[in-house]
Amino acid sequence: MRLEADGREWGQVVEWGANPDEELGELIDIFDPAEPPEWQDRALCAQTDPEAFFPEKGGSTREAKRICQGCEVKSECLEYALAHDERFGIWGGLSERERRKLKKRAV
Ligand code: SF4
Repeated sequence: MRLEADGREWGQVVEWGANPDEELGELIDIFDPAEPPEWQDRALCAQTDPEAFFPEKGGSTREAKRICQGCEVKSECLEYALAHDERFGIWGGLSERERRKLKKRAV
C-alpha cells in the first residue's frame, strides 16, 4: 500500500460527483481488461453503415432494425445492451426507448 503525504491511500476515491453509479461505470469501462465480446465479430452492423444504428434524434431507425432482423447475434447484442445500460442507438433490433420498456417489464 502506498500512502500520499496527507495520509490518504494512493488511488483512494476522495469524493464522488453527483452521479456515482455513472462514474463507476465509466471507470469499469476504462479498466476492464476484457476483450470485446466474441459475438461482435459476427455483428451484421459491422458490415454496414454505422450511422444507421445511431440516427439523429427523430431520424429513422427502420433500416437498422431491418438489418438486425437478419443478424445471427441479435440475442447476444440485446442482452449486452441491457446489461451495459446502452443508452444510444439500435441494439438487438430495439431502440433505446424500446429497451427501456423491456427492462421495466422485466422488473
Ligand atoms: S442485432 Fe443489430 S445492432 Fe446488434 S449486432 Fe446485430 S446488426 Fe448489430
